[in-house]
Amino acid sequence: MTRNVLIVGAGPGGLAAAMLLAKQGLRVTVVEQSGLVGGRTSAIEADGYRFDVGPTFFMYPRVLEEIFSAAGHDLHKEVEMVRLDPQYRITFGAGGELLCTPDLEEMERAVAALAPADAGALRRFMDDNRKKLASFRPCMETPFSSWRDVTAMRMLRLLPFLAPWRSLDDELGRYFSDPRVRLAFSFQSKYLGMSPFRCPSLFSILSFIEYEYGVFHPVGGCNAVTAAMARVAQRLGVEFRFHEPVEELLVEGGRTVGIRTANGETRADAVIVNADFADFMTRHVPATARRRWNDSKIARSQYSCSTFMMYLGIEGCYDLPHHSIHIAKDYARNLEEIEKRHVLSEDPSFYIQNACVTDPTLAPPGHSTLYVLVPVSHMHPNIDWSRERDRFRTLALSKLAQLGVTNIESRIRFEKITTPADWESQGPIYRGATFNLAHNLGQMLHLRPQNRFEDIPGTYLVGGGTHPGSGLPVIFESSRITSRLVLEDLGMSSAHLEPVA
Ligand SMILES: Cc1cc2nc3c(=O)[nH]c(=O)nc-3n(C[C@H](O)[C@H](O)[C@H](O)COP(=O)(O)OP(=O)(O)OC[C@H]3O[C@@H](n4cnc5c(N)ncnc54)[C@H](O)[C@@H]3O)c2cc1C
Repeated sequence: MTRNVLIVGAGPGGLAAAMLLAKQGLRVTVVEQSGLVGGRTSAIEADGYRFDVGPTFFMYPRVLEEIFSAAGHDLHKEVEMVRLDPQYRITFGAGGELLCTPDLEEMERAVAALAPADAGALRRFMDDNRKKLASFRPCMETPFSSWRDVTAMRMLRLLPFLAPWRSLDDELGRYFSDPRVRLAFSFQSKYLGMSPFRCPSLFSILSFIEYEYGVFHPVGGCNAVTAAMARVAQRLGVEFRFHEPVEELLVEGGRTVGIRTANGETRADAVIVNADFADFMTRHVPATARRRWNDSKIARSQYSCSTFMMYLGIEGCYDLPHHSIHIAKDYARNLEEIEKRHVLSEDPSFYIQNACVTDPTLAPPGHSTLYVLVPVSHMHPNIDWSRERDRFRTLALSKLAQLGVTNIESRIRFEKITTPADWESQGPIYRGATFNLAHNLGQMLHLRPQNRFEDIPGTYLVGGGTHPGSGLPVIFESSRITSRLVLEDLGMSSAHLEPVA
């Protein structure tokens, strides 16, 4: 008899699991509350403009290439990818800028021009992080269910690199003395929604990965990747049910047996949750079934920052690289305002994507798109977005002038704004924390909600809320880990899902 699996949510994590499990002959149904695939990695399309909702940096395609291949497809035949060079420009409110290129000789020259004392440290940083990633990779590819797994050999090999007492900024200080150069190789902790001053030192691998393996733009945007995943899943027989929010996880005799939606109950041999972990658990899973992840533990956990977004359709095109990152003059203060004081910064850091310089398909001829992301606090009583939204929009637009984006009001032809309150209600995302549970050491490995969800047998997790964490490559890895566990629990072979050595 064919076994059936239900997946709650068509985000990147849910789609990757759907592809892998359908390929193994399971009957897979994806139940999605919205009318779109991709979740935070979907598209906004309006008036001839096309924007990514969330991810714009596509990195480390290796994991997704392997997933496509395990599903009998070729990622690069489905989606065209452009490797960016320069990868991005960083401007510092404190003065100076860096045009960051994967050409290491050129990059060394750029670092030396900004900070002569740091000339020559880049190679050492790259060499050390190559070893660190090689040691950490097996941990990203394996489920963690207890301290036993953490003390296993592969983790012991990682200990010299982990340096849990050091923050990411401290770690960068071992290579670069200029704080701006340290930021150029540590701002990537924002991909996890964390400050480099609090993020574990392990995550120096993020900037290493950019320089070693590249930053890519999938033509059409990152949403073209999730669209391709859904296409492949459909070819493999996956059924998609849209506009159908899951209202309750059905738990009988301590085991998950299916889901309930407005259309009734659907039973399954396994249920995989891709919806935002904390939101889904607190609103749709009976409290009595959650021993470890009860409402009070979820409320006490630490969450990532959120983002204030502006998606702007522009007449003409600004002279900006594909990705620009502006770091506030007083970055430490900006981060403290986001993470500790939970107030809005008057001088925020921000990011602009000007994707039409690489991909003119995203706007009508003579027009372009600007995607503006300002990291802000997750939802907190200190900030009332119904009052702050318009004021913060004006502030953010005025700050863009620091990168030469002037007279913008007169050139906007389309505009959509998303605040943390919108993420919270429409995601739906717990506290609007766009990058899920924070990635501190107390919320990683077996201390993060586990892929085989520890509270309720028959329930599995994929996506940014489970191991290994948030960010597309690791989200895809979560799907591969979880798919292996589902297959093993159903007594089926999972050998073809082992990562390629
Ligand atoms: C603004 C922003 C920028 C980002 N930038 C990057 C980047 O550049 N690079 C990168 O690698 N990562 C980035 N990320 C992080 C991450 O890669 C994405 O957020 C990613 O989409 C998360 O994937 P996921 O699988 O966890 O699920 P999600 O994308 O959150 O999808 C979950 C799905 O579940 C559905 N759902 C929720 N509740 C229910 C329910 N009750 N019933 C049915 N369906 C439900 C939702 O509608 C959604 O479709 C970014 C995120 C954001 C928000």
